[in-house]
Amino acid sequence: MKEYEIVMGLEVHVELATNSKLFCSCSAKFGADANEHVCPACAGMPGMLPITNKNAVELGIAASIVTNSQITPVISFDKKNYFYPDLSCGYQITQLYAPICKNGWVEIETSQGTKRITLKQIHIEEDAGKLVHSHGVSLVDYNRCSVPLVEIVSNPDFRSAEEVIAYLEKLRALLSFAGVSDCKMQEGSMRCDVNLSVREKGSDKLGIRTEMKNMNSLSAIERAIEYESQRHIDAIETGCEELVQETRRWDDAAGKSFSMRNKENATDYRYFPNCDIMPIVVSDEWIENVKAKLPESAHVKYARMTGELGISEVDAKIITKSKHLSDIFDALMAHNIPAKDVVTWIVVELLSLETEENKSYDDIDIDCDKLADLIAMVNKKEINRTVAKKILTLLYTDKIDPVTYVKENNLGMVSDTGALEAIIAQLIAENPASVKEYKDGNAKVFTFFVGKTMKQTSGKADPAVVREILAKMLEEA
Ligand code: ZN
Ligand code: MN
Repeated sequence: MKEYEIVMGLEVHVELATNSKLFCSCSAKFGADANEHVCPACAGMPGMLPITNKNAVELGIAASIVTNSQITPVISFDKKNYFYPDLSCGYQITQLYAPICKNGWVEIETSQGTKRITLKQIHIEEDAGKLVHSHGVSLVDYNRCSVPLVEIVSNPDFRSAEEVIAYLEKLRALLSFAGVSDCKMQEGSMRCDVNLSVREKGSDKLGIRTEMKNMNSLSAIERAIEYESQRHIDAIETGCEELVQETRRWDDAAGKSFSMRNKENATDYRYFPNCDIMPIVVSDEWIENVKAKLPESAHVKYARMTGELGISEVDAKIITKSKHLSDIFDALMAHNIPAKDVVTWIVVELLSLETEENKSYDDIDIDCDKLADLIAMVNKKEINRTVAKKILTLLYTDKIDPVTYVKENNLGMVSDTGALEAIIAQLIAENPASVKEYKDGNAKVFTFFVGKTMKQTSGKADPAVVREILAKMLEEA
């Protein structure tokens, strides 16, 4: 039995978080009606003159910095020629000869330890439009035309799906914390193409390579790699299928990849400089300026959380994996809630709501001011935790105001010792058999009494006070 090695390189397209498009002032925002964000320039009308979006270049510089890349002193744009209806001018504006940066690296962590993934280059380019096929016709939506992207091209350094996933998660953290992109795979603002080949272990020759497109989640990427590498191995072993260099579409529902077209080489595109766009000088001063403005990275935040804030590594990892969760963390910290409480409320309570709803962390839509009010009520012992959890669900689903809700529904915590003593005295009187059991050493009976007391107060009692009174009264009974 021969042993095989998978060799993969990644091309990751990330939509830049600019307000406007790369070469015109149309909105770059996602979710508008078809062809609402279009002008003659981004629709590719003849004679249009592109004007480069400075913010897009700055985000490109930021992407270069966080990936340890060498920034090109003078960058320029090129035309990549091909015909497709979603690209009406017949070429894509991209960078071939002087991309924003080269030779970067990203460190990943897997079960095998740390590994450095090297990057060939990052280039800034425009997105294409979108075809919508329905009722036997094909329509074109040009909203996405000329939305700015960076394409991050890695060297063929990946040997397993685990490494690929670790890299994508790392890229997502680096870029989203730097404000380069929101990196939402489900909305297409982060897309990944996998170039894959298989060779006998120990060989230094690369096998025939196929490129897979159309994976829109990390788990789909994992499945696609698993399928495609097995297809290559089967082809090599049995010879029943001839491997050809081509682009393949991943169909996640079918769990298979399908041939799309022969993979073009760079020469097929007849790249040439776009003389409508002036080269741009990226000065050291400009780079330093961008560097100085970069927000706190996930790495630095993690160190701060596990260091001065005393948060566990596991919790800090969960929160710093998502820029959105991390923003919720910062918002709650700004309300002067102790860090440990903030973490528990996010990691235990908020995320358990999310698993129920089966959404990604990025979709958590919560009013942080109101959540802070809720946590403050618990910390001031105005309501107990059980009540608070119910209110959290309502805050999440129905956007209620916790303070008003507690008042209107009379949910304030009962910690009045006199009232609780009266309830417990009655319970002891009504359940002599259980009291005897407790005295005979059955500790579980204690929980039974706690439950009964909580029920009598409609769940509003302070559980700690209940336990204290109960222990004392059962002892004396
Ligand atoms: Zn436009
Ligand atoms: Mn591209």
